[in-house]
Amino acid sequence: MLYFFDCEFMQCGSGMIDLISIGIVSEDGREIYLESNEFDPAKANVFVRTNVLPKLGPVEERLSRKEIRNRIFQLIGTDSPTWMAYYSAYDFVCLAELFGSFDQLPKGYPKLCWDLKCEALKLGVDDLPHQATKGEHNSLADAKWLKEAYFYLKDKHGLAIPEQKIPV
Ligand SMILES: [Mg+2]
Repeated sequence: MLYFFDCEFMQCGSGMIDLISIGIVSEDGREIYLESNEFDPAKANVFVRTNVLPKLGPVEERLSRKEIRNRIFQLIGTDSPTWMAYYSAYDFVCLAELFGSFDQLPKGYPKLCWDLKCEALKLGVDDLPHQATKGEHNSLADAKWLKEAYFYLKDKHGLAIPEQKIPV
């Protein structure tokens, strides 16, 4: 099954990507939104301070990275997820690092992520559905938009993501 996800994160120097929040929406409509209590807001750059931090929920509802990982386990269950994100490179690193490293991804989790931006480019589509600005940079709102954009490409432009089980 497809899982559409988005991460908000901070880049803290070379090789450091610090998760702020993750939103995941499954193809069958289940969703989670989780914020980390392990990032340091004091290290946020102007963009994150302006566009991301104001959209976060109450501080007391934030979770440890371990708790976030367990909630993702609960969402996925025994499924072998097909991950999809938008400009996905850093998002997938954020997701994978919740489990330690690529080598420590759970059995059945693929070590690749489909990128809807790449798929849109391949199809020559530059009119993806509009996203209301107020939701942008909230990771759950972004994941919901991603799912909407995926079905737009699938239904209107014939996007087909292979369903074969990806070797893990
Ligand atoms: Mg986002």
